[in-house]
This record gives sequence, C-alpha cells and structure tokens, in this order.
Amino acid sequence: MALVVMDAGHGGNNPGAVYQGRQEKDDALALTLAVGQILEESGVEVYYTRTTDIYEAPEQKAQEGNAVRGDYFVSIHRNSSPYPNQYTGSYVIIVSSWWKARKITMS
Ligand SMILES: [Zn+2]
Repeated sequence: MALVVMDAGHGGNNPGAVYQGRQEKDDALALTLAVGQILEESGVEVYYTRTTDIYEAPEQKAQEGNAVRGDYFVSIHRNSSPYPNQYTGSYVIIVSSWWKARKITMS
C-alpha cells in the first residue's frame, strides 16, 4: 500500500496568498485535511507535514517526506491574482518517489 505525504502549503507566519483577509495557509490546511481523510477512509496510509497552523521550510517538509519513505508527496496550495476572475481551475504538481513530475492543469 502506498504512503501519501500530504503537505498543506505555508502556515504560521507565512500566510501565502491573501485576498480580503482570506489566507492561503488556512485554505491549504483545510483542503489537505479533507483530502487526507478521504484517502484514509479509502485505506490509504497518510502522513501529514502539518495539521495545525505552523510553518516549516519546504526543504524540511521534503526531508520529512523522505524520512517516512512516502511514495507520493502532495503539496496543496491556493494561488490568487490581483485581478478578479483572471484564472479558473486547479493547478496540480505531483512528484512520485521515482521523481517523475507531472503537472496537471484542470479548468
Ligand atoms: Zn502557496
């Protein structure tokens, strides 16, 4: 069974994208926990780099993912733009333990 490392982007003093008080770090954490729960309920083993509002450097998170020997490392972010409705859809980068990066843009 694969181990999925779920990483909520940003956190702590690093809010990520901010729009009218809404902070990326909060959205990323909520989505990460929700997706992780779905995976766990489906029998997938999940490791979370954070489950609270803390900050760790991306390099530190990557080391954690390698230390637990994750098969997949999924880092969730929520970008923004200064122009309303400039972008739609999702932007997903998935890197497997074999370092085959896949970039998927959905709209
Ligand atoms: Zn981000």
